[in-house]
Amino acid sequence: MSLCCENIRYTELAERYGTPLYIYSRAALDEAFAAYTCAFAALDPLICYAVKANGNLAVIRRFAELGSGFDIVSGGELARVLAAGGSAAKTIFSGVGKSEAEIEFALRAGIKCFNAESLPELERINAVAGRLNLKAPVSLRINPDVDAQTHPYISTGLKDNKFGIAMRDAEAAYRRAAALPHLHIVGIDCHIGSQLIRLDPLIEACERILALARRLAAQGIGLQHIDLGGGVGIVYDQEDTPDLAAYASAVAKLIGGSKLGLILEPGRSLVGNAGSLLTRVEYVKRNENKNFLIVDAAMNDLMRPALYQAYHRIEPAETPSAAPFAADIVGPICETGDFLAKDRTIAAQAGDLLVVRGAGAYAASMASNYNTRPRAAEVMVNGGEARIVRRRETIEEMLANEKACL
Ligand SMILES: *Cc1c(COP(=O)(O)O)cnc(C)c1O
Repeated sequence: MSLCCENIRYTELAERYGTPLYIYSRAALDEAFAAYTCAFAALDPLICYAVKANGNLAVIRRFAELGSGFDIVSGGELARVLAAGGSAAKTIFSGVGKSEAEIEFALRAGIKCFNAESLPELERINAVAGRLNLKAPVSLRINPDVDAQTHPYISTGLKDNKFGIAMRDAEAAYRRAAALPHLHIVGIDCHIGSQLIRLDPLIEACERILALARRLAAQGIGLQHIDLGGGVGIVYDQEDTPDLAAYASAVAKLIGGSKLGLILEPGRSLVGNAGSLLTRVEYVKRNENKNFLIVDAAMNDLMRPALYQAYHRIEPAETPSAAPFAADIVGPICETGDFLAKDRTIAAQAGDLLVVRGAGAYAASMASNYNTRPRAAEVMVNGGEARIVRRRETIEEMLANEKACL
């Protein structure tokens, strides 16, 4: 038996394009997007795909075709959205450290709004907008102080995180924003973390943000939208992930007759399970106490296991002939942290192809050249067709910006 992406065997893709290789299924992107639009249909939300999960131009293009907006965290990501045919008018700009140049770029492009994260940032947006003779649309990212119950590195909604404006400072921040002449207050937003497995923190955040919106309205600060961020978890192993329909009906009940528009910023849940990473076993190494499958993909291609102790399912692309044994699946990089999986029972021998699942999000977008390894190619599969959407980087390209002179 051979595993396939849509109608194409992974072994065939590996032969055609080499390994390591990221493979995305267009049908899976479409399905994930439809899951949001269906579940939230009654609220008619603007879904702003969080580009940092996977910024490939073909991925952005596909979501733009489906009607998506975009959540960006840098000027570079804005350039990606524009290059892929995404709409600036449906793009919101998040992130704690927006530079003047990025703010100017976004204002000139005509983005939907800035999700501002601090008072100094509001002052800076106001100053840049004033210089350009524009009014900048802003939302304030409020930290609702709920525990997202996820890995600490991807938990962002607690009061000790660097993200957002604290709930107790929120009303004063809105009053300050209202007093700045080149700002136009349009919304309120939050994003409490990523890979959330429980629904209640998301709903609790929504409750707190809406309560704040009501207090603001009482002070004459009206809003057009509420943005609940992203964060919905996906299945990497056996997780029981939040049900979108249950999420949507809880939000609908809370928003009720408030007339606020809804924005969502999903990243991982739109692309994570639409992608796999193909890697070939280079060596089987048997040490005294441990076996290792040394594969040609490494932490530079998939950083999540090293960074968050994340789990990815890994399966042989073809039914193996060998008997299964326990092994760590590791890359060639010179770091003990360079592993894709630990203590797996797997049947594989040198030359076999492995499929690393859940590699559509935070894989290619986090890739680096560590150990001077070229970035892997990316392929989009649509039915029986496969297209290269990023070609494999060359060694010449990696060296091109450097000079050996002193
Ligand atoms: C990363 C991020 C998202 C997307 O998070 P996912 O967990 O991938 O859905 C949304 N909004 C903001 C502000 C982010 O930083």
